[in-house]
Amino acid sequence: MLTPFLLTALILTAVGVFGHTIYRRFLLLRAARPEPRFDRFGERLRGVLVYAFGQKKFLSGEQPAGWTHFVIFWGFITVAIRTLTLFGQGYAPHFYLPGLHPDGLGGPYLLLKDTVEGGVIIAVLIALYRWLFAHPRRLFGFAPAEKRLAQQSHWEALVILFFILGLMVTDFLYDGARFALESDPLNLSERRWAFLGSAVASLMQGMEQKALKLLGDLSWWLHIVIILIFLNLLPRSKHFHIITAIPNVFFRKLEPAGALSLMDLEKGETYGTSRIDQFTWKQVLDMYSCTECGRCSSACPATSSGKPLAPRQLLLDLRDYLYDREGEIQQKKIRGQNGGEIGVNIVGQGLISDDVLWACTTCRACEEACPVMIEYVDKIVDMRRHLVQEETRFPGELNRTFRGMETSSNPWGIGPEQRDAWAKDLDIHRLGEHGAAEYLYYVGCAGSFDERSKKTTRAFVKILKKANVSFAILGKEELCNGETARRLGNEYLFQTMAASLIEVLDRYGVKKILTNCPHCFNTLKNEYPQLGGKYEVTHAAELIEKLLREGRITLEGEPPQRITYHDSCYYGRYNQIYDVPREVLGRIQGAQLQEINPHRHEGMCCGAGGGWMWMEEPRDKRVNYLRVQQALETHAETIAVSCPYCMIMMEDGLKAKGMDEKVKAMDVMELVERALK
Ligand code: SF4
Ligand code: SF4
Repeated sequence: MLTPFLLTALILTAVGVFGHTIYRRFLLLRAARPEPRFDRFGERLRGVLVYAFGQKKFLSGEQPAGWTHFVIFWGFITVAIRTLTLFGQGYAPHFYLPGLHPDGLGGPYLLLKDTVEGGVIIAVLIALYRWLFAHPRRLFGFAPAEKRLAQQSHWEALVILFFILGLMVTDFLYDGARFALESDPLNLSERRWAFLGSAVASLMQGMEQKALKLLGDLSWWLHIVIILIFLNLLPRSKHFHIITAIPNVFFRKLEPAGALSLMDLEKGETYGTSRIDQFTWKQVLDMYSCTECGRCSSACPATSSGKPLAPRQLLLDLRDYLYDREGEIQQKKIRGQNGGEIGVNIVGQGLISDDVLWACTTCRACEEACPVMIEYVDKIVDMRRHLVQEETRFPGELNRTFRGMETSSNPWGIGPEQRDAWAKDLDIHRLGEHGAAEYLYYVGCAGSFDERSKKTTRAFVKILKKANVSFAILGKEELCNGETARRLGNEYLFQTMAASLIEVLDRYGVKKILTNCPHCFNTLKNEYPQLGGKYEVTHAAELIEKLLREGRITLEGEPPQRITYHDSCYYGRYNQIYDVPREVLGRIQGAQLQEINPHRHEGMCCGAGGGWMWMEEPRDKRVNYLRVQQALETHAETIAVSCPYCMIMMEDGLKAKGMDEKVKAMDVMELVERALK
C-alpha cells in the first residue's frame, strides 16, 4: 500500500520538476529567431539513423571513447524498457510491458538486457578511468583558450557516470535477490534468460530470505530514485544532449556546408549577431546539445596554434550566458518587444572577445568532428558581421583588403588592368572578343595577381590547350567574387561584388565555369545560387581526371618522387573533394603518394581561410608552421596543393623551417603539366 503511494508521489514530483525545466528551455527556443529547418524530412530522418542511432562519428573517431559512448547509448535505450517495467512492478509485482512477458519475447529481451548492462558497466569503468586517472586533454580543456573549462571541476561527468553504474548494479542486485528467493515461478522463467542476474543470485545463495527480500526492495528503490534524479539532472547539465542531440541531428544544415546564410540587407534592422536573443532557435538548440566532449577544440587549428579561440569554450560561454539571461528573455517572451534588447552586447564586451572571433579560419574542422552536428562557422561569421557592419571594428590590416576589393575588385588592391597580365604571351580567348566557349575559366584574384599562383594558372591553361578544351577567360572584365569579404563578415561588400560579377557572367550567357581555386569554387557553386547566379562549376582536378580517362591527355613518367597531398578545407570538408586530386596525382608515373597525418576530412587547415590570408598572424602562433611540420613528417619531396592560399602558406612554412630547398610546394596542375607527354 505504501509503495504505490510513495512511488506515485515521487514520480509526480520528479516529472513535474522535469516538465517545468523543459518548458523553460522550450520558451528560450521559442524566443529565438526563426530559421527554416523543416524541409527534406526523409533526408533528415536518414541522418538521425546514421549519426544518432548509428553513432557514426563516435565509431569512426577516437577510441575507446567512441565505442564506450556507443555501448552506453544503446545500453540506455535497452535498459529504459527494463526501468519502465520496474516502475510498473511498483504497482503490480507481475507487471510486464505488453509483449515482454518472460515466457514470450520478454525472455530473449532479458538475455539482451543482461548482455548490454554488462557492456555498459565495462564502458563506464573505462570512462571513469579516463576521467579520474588518464585525464585526456580533450576532456579537460585546451589552454589557454579553455583555461576556464580546465579549471572547472568535472563532478558532473563523474556523478552521471556513477548514476549510470548505479542503475546497472541495482538492476542486477534486484534480479539476483529475487532469483535467490526462488519463491515465484515467474522468477524462475526470468532466471533462465537473465544470465548475469542468475550469476548474482548464485553469489547470494545461503543468504537469509529476509535479507534477500530487503536487498531486493532496496535495490528496486535505489534504481527508481537514481533514474528520477538523473531525469532532473539532464536539462541542467551537459547531459541535456541525451534529450536534444537527436533533434539537433534531425534539424542539421542540409544546404551545402560551404554556403553561409544570406543576410537580408534591405529588411534587416540589425546586421549580424551581437545579442543572445539574435541567435536562431537552431543555434540555441546547438547550445543545448553540446556534450562538452572537446572533439571540436581538439580539431581546431586556432586552438592548437595557441590563439584565444576554442570552439567548445565559445559555445559553452554562449550557453551559460543564455541561461543567465533566461528570466529576462522569458519576461519579454516574444523577441522584438522593447526593441528585442535582451542582455548586453555579447561581442567584444568580455563574453566573446573580438580576438576569439577573428581567430577562426572557417575551416569547419570543428563541425566535421562534432558528433552531434553542432554548427560553428555561421555563428562566428554572424558575429563578425556585427563587428564589421555595425561597429566598423576589425583588424587594421583588413582596411587595405576591403579597400582593394571595393576599388580594384581584388584584395591586393592591384590595378584591375593587370588582371590578365599573366596571359599576355598565351593565346587565350576572351569571352568579350571571341564569343562563346564551352567553359569560362574563372581565374580568380590569386591566380591573376599573385606571382606564385600565376605559374599555376599558366600550367593549367597549358593542359587545357593540350587537350583542346573549349574555354575562354573574361580577361580584364573578370571581377572578384567577394568570397573573402563574406568570410570576414562584410556581407554588404560580398553581395555588391557578387551582383556585379553575376551581371557580367549573365551578359555572356555563361553556363559552365572552370576554376582552380577552392574558395572561388565554393562561392560560385554554393553561394551564388542564393543571389540568382546558377552555374555548373567544375574544379580543375575533376576536369583533368576526365581528360585523362578519355585519353585526351596522357602523362609521362617522372623520376620517382614522394608526394604528399594537403587537402584544402574548401575542396575537402566544404565540398567532399578528396579522391579526385589523389587519383590525378596517382596517374603520374613515379609518384608515390604518402598521406599526411591528419588528412582528408580530418586534414588540418593551412591557416589562410576565413580571411587569414589577409591578416597578420603572430610568428609563434602560425597554423601553417604546424601543418608544414606534419607534411615534413611524411618525408615527401613535394607537398602537392590545390589552392593558391595553401600554396602561399606551405611555401612560407617551408621557408621558415629552412626546408624550402629540399621540399617543394607545387600545385597539382603544375605536377600534371610537368608530366604531360
Ligand atoms: S572553423 Fe576551424 S578555426 Fe573556426 S572554430 Fe572551427 S575548427 Fe576552429
Ligand atoms: S560542440 Fe560538438 S565536438 Fe564540441 S564539445 Fe560540443 S559536442 Fe563535442
